[in-house]
Amino acid sequence: MRRHEPPFNGKRFLLNQNTGEIHDLDNETDSCHIDKIEKEHIHMDDSYMNCLIRAKANNCPNPNGCFYCLPTKDKG
Ligand SMILES: [Zn+2]
Repeated sequence: MRRHEPPFNGKRFLLNQNTGEIHDLDNETDSCHIDKIEKEHIHMDDSYMNCLIRAKANNCPNPNGCFYCLPTKDKG
């Protein structure tokens, strides 16, 4: 479910900059716990690739897709 308030701003992909996990809000599940992610750890973007680039630029530990909402990009 997309959220239109900051820091989400209606964008589709969410990078948790603390963990490197990338979520697809159009495919969000309860197990994603999006509302528990600290706001200062959130980076929103229009594509998975942009989130990945951002994660690598910020030396995130293990950038990859969420097991629940982006399983095709999940690398564990
Ligand atoms: Zn997710």
